[in-house]
Amino acid sequence: MPSGPFGARADPPWNKENACTGVCGYDALFGDGEESEGPIKLSEEIMSGEVKGLPKVNVVIVGAGLSGAVMAERCATMGKTCLVIDKRDHIGGNCYDYLHADTGIRMSRYGAHLFHTKYERVWEYVTRFSEWVPFDHRVRGLVRGKDSKMHLVPIPPTQKSVNALLGENIQSDAEMEEWYKKVRVGDVDEAQNGEEAALARVGPDLYEAIFRHYTKKQWDKYPSELDASVLKRLPCRTTTDDRYFSCKYQALPARGYTRIFENMLLTGPCKRKVTVRLNCDFFKVRSELPAHDLLIFTGPIDAFYTSQGLPKLEYRSIRFEETVHENPDGGYHQEAFVVNHPYPEVPYTRIVEYKHLPIQPESVKQGKVTPSVTHTEYSTAEGDPYYPVPNTQNRELYERYRSLAEKEPGVAFVGRLASYKYFNMDEAIKNALEMFDDLREKGRFEPKPPAAARPPKEVPKLDDGSAPPSSRGSVCSQAAANCAVQ
Ligand code: FAD
Repeated sequence: MPSGPFGARADPPWNKENACTGVCGYDALFGDGEESEGPIKLSEEIMSGEVKGLPKVNVVIVGAGLSGAVMAERCATMGKTCLVIDKRDHIGGNCYDYLHADTGIRMSRYGAHLFHTKYERVWEYVTRFSEWVPFDHRVRGLVRGKDSKMHLVPIPPTQKSVNALLGENIQSDAEMEEWYKKVRVGDVDEAQNGEEAALARVGPDLYEAIFRHYTKKQWDKYPSELDASVLKRLPCRTTTDDRYFSCKYQALPARGYTRIFENMLLTGPCKRKVTVRLNCDFFKVRSELPAHDLLIFTGPIDAFYTSQGLPKLEYRSIRFEETVHENPDGGYHQEAFVVNHPYPEVPYTRIVEYKHLPIQPESVKQGKVTPSVTHTEYSTAEGDPYYPVPNTQNRELYERYRSLAEKEPGVAFVGRLASYKYFNMDEAIKNALEMFDDLREKGRFEPKPPAAARPPKEVPKLDDGSAPPSSRGSVCSQAAANCAVQ
């Protein structure tokens, strides 16, 4: 059993690849004397969800996740007033973390979040809202080897994983390359489905031990039932690099992810320009929203239209099962922060033990907290929308939504749910920054000219040529009606 936290840094030379080498960035709230280690208590007004009677704003933003927060911060910096609403009882969207009530351990509510980016613009941006500490994320998998025993090995598989699981003795990149050549079956470019693609990438033994059943648990489909494209890029490491990501910057926010949002939305220009309301569902309060020039919607694009009868887009979700380990050996339940369980005998995909992270409150880091807490993750079809299901039907349906959205007057759709695309955090930030630039260039933040001065509005058409339900009234025309000047 582990005798301490799993190391935050990879072994040399791989740790040298991370350009975040020490604490960097600025936490304005901390700089101003805010010493609480968990989320700060928000005012009753913010928590009230009440929007009735609020004065006119330039922009209403639906969603206080990364996409909404970046938009609000950028708008406020440009001098625009914003109202940010979220139906949840916290800011931060899926990045939200908090201190566990009984142990004080910092946990993520919606699954482990590891920040990594190759984009200089994104790294420069995020370091304005938090201090960051370097963290080389490394995943372990409990995997059944050829000897029928369970082994704890690096995931994605490295030389070490192959040696432990398959009894090989690979000692160099060249030997690993040769091994892959020997075991691969078929040509990945000719693969007809996910199984053929996987066999052509990693061969039958790694496929069976690590990828086949994990895919079934995650997508409720075996690779043979999925598009070849889904498994065409299975990672084939030939080196000893056991880091999960290869991005230039890999780090964790020193006082948690929620602090980033507190700094973005509650300090600086946002303090004066941005109003936040939580417990506030757009679809319940839309007729009460204050007048505005632009609505930015970061919720699910299909939710914006389904009230008018279009089919729903498919998502996979995760159920998190919390377990408190009162007195684990050595203070920890498992050897690593994330342990994957790719074998078919258990229904869960992975177990996450946050206590290992270097961004824990001081009492946890100093070993004063005996218990540990884990989240066991079960992939499900029900629940919060997390991962878009990549198949032709969903892609085509999304295209129909997109063509409606492009023509939606007074509304901009931004973010992973509005784009029906899995974005890592850095991609969500980059996307929001670029969307902001684009909206500004197109003058979308400016009040619209009076109706008489504008050409008659064209009724948007669905791909099949029929008029969308929106043109028959309700959602879209209501959203437009809430705009200050029509
Ligand atoms: P969200 O964070 O989902 O924010 C959208 C917000 O809109 C939500 O708060 C929602 O409540 C609100 N909303 C929706 N509908 C309404 C409505 N009707 N009214 C009011 N509010 C509404 N990225 C990484 O880089 N590294 C990781 O390790 C990582 N791990 C992840 C693990 C999981 C399980 C998941 C699901 C995602 C992970 N991500 C990770 C991705 C990361 O969470 C996203 O990039 C990020 O959250 C996107 O931000 P967003 O604002 O677009 O969406």
